[in-house]
Amino acid sequence: MTIIAKFGGTSLGNAERIKNTAKIISEIKKKKDVVVVVSAIGKITDFLINAVKNTNKINIDKFIDEVYLRHFNILKEIKQPTNQDKKRLNLSCNSIKQRLILAKQQNKINPEDIDYIAGFGEKFSAFILSIALEQLNFKTKMLCGDDNLIFTNNNFNNAEVLFDKTNNALEKKILPIIKENIIVFTGFVGTTLNNKTTCLGRGSSDYIASIIGASLDAKEIRIYTDVDGIMTADPRIVKNAKIIKKLDFNEMSELACFGAYVLHPKTIEPAMKKNICVKVINSNNTKKFTEIFNKREKTSKQIKAISSKTNISILNIYSTRMLKSYGFLAKVFKIFEEEELSVDLICTSEVNISLSLNGLENNQKMQNIINKLNEFSFAKLKKNKALICIVGEFLKHKYGSAGNIFNKLGENKINIEMISQGASEISISFIVENADAKKAVLLLHKELIESN
Ligand code: ADP
Ligand code: ASP
Ligand code: MG
Repeated sequence: MTIIAKFGGTSLGNAERIKNTAKIISEIKKKKDVVVVVSAIGKITDFLINAVKNTNKINIDKFIDEVYLRHFNILKEIKQPTNQDKKRLNLSCNSIKQRLILAKQQNKINPEDIDYIAGFGEKFSAFILSIALEQLNFKTKMLCGDDNLIFTNNNFNNAEVLFDKTNNALEKKILPIIKENIIVFTGFVGTTLNNKTTCLGRGSSDYIASIIGASLDAKEIRIYTDVDGIMTADPRIVKNAKIIKKLDFNEMSELACFGAYVLHPKTIEPAMKKNICVKVINSNNTKKFTEIFNKREKTSKQIKAISSKTNISILNIYSTRMLKSYGFLAKVFKIFEEEELSVDLICTSEVNISLSLNGLENNQKMQNIINKLNEFSFAKLKKNKALICIVGEFLKHKYGSAGNIFNKLGENKINIEMISQGASEISISFIVENADAKKAVLLLHKELIESN
């Protein structure tokens, strides 16, 4: 049976952390086969993306030296680098440099350049972790998603996986070598059908771990990170947040989609399809973890957690043509499909639809949508909003729980704009002003979780 073990940037921040990670992996390999999935070393992805976006402002040679040194300095604390090791680091640095020079000449930010360069973060960390494992006398095999393994469409920066081709490639490549080797696989990175490197979105190494786990029918997908598991709220906001020992897939999906970035929102889907348990584990103390699984019967009827997502927008679409007519919603969502923009919450009345959307990273897409909507309705965008999501089966079982939530917010002068409760009744979500988000999470955590 195979274990997938994914380590985030927080578990690979320096030589000490990498040695600790190698030790955790060596313990797993004593009993099971293991595929390790790595993120880039802490903050490297931001550093690389920032360089591609600012080729005119940075000194490329100085930047490349810094990328080399950040990795070389960690490597040399793990082992005395050989000429071969230095050559490999240099080769990657040189590829980044050549692409940056080209990007600078083109004088515009190209999503393909961002993915090509950002993907090197994971390649460096996979290389260094492989060396740390070889120092412990394990045989390793480093695999990269863009080496015809994780196939995606051409949607650079946020590519969608082509599952059939990917599953075939993963099985064919990994199964024959997994007994002999510890597989060290790059997170974040994929490839188009014509061999261009893509990235699957920020934080998507978790998702890659789940894709590999599902394709190999793994026993468990372990996500190692810097907290004790999934907590009742983001511990950076709520100091009293507590660990949740067990969550089901649906509850976790709601939390991850609506702000609990500890797990990439797409991670649950492949694991859920194959019913593989996902564990979120503290890499500093592996006895602390949360188990996420398929069963609902054992989960308690309490409120489980509160998440928040700031800097979102609301699009209000007004039209009297909606009255008693059919096909209006289909027309609206067709436009979102054409522009490939996803929607979080949806509320409708007879003459109005309100949609909440993730930030406005792509203003052009948003502008296109508004222009198209204005041909048959009146669309208005409101920015600087936050989405709060409360998750747990409580809503099904307790009278007045929703009223209690909104009373509390009202008493504290927090205005609520959209309210959405899915038919599954495991979550309730609503929108507040950005400025009120933190206060709302703290208040509700105290009222609904700490007091129970
Ligand atoms: P990694 O580098 O391991 O991928 P991330 O930074 O992506 O780590 O995720 C871990 C962080 O997620 C934690 O440090 C924590 O601040 C944040 N976080 C947000 N919401 C939650 C939550 N409900 N439970 C635990 N951590 C959370
Ligand atoms: N390194 C990538 C990021 O920072 C992917 C990941 O961490 O999962 O977004
Ligand atoms: Mg992460």
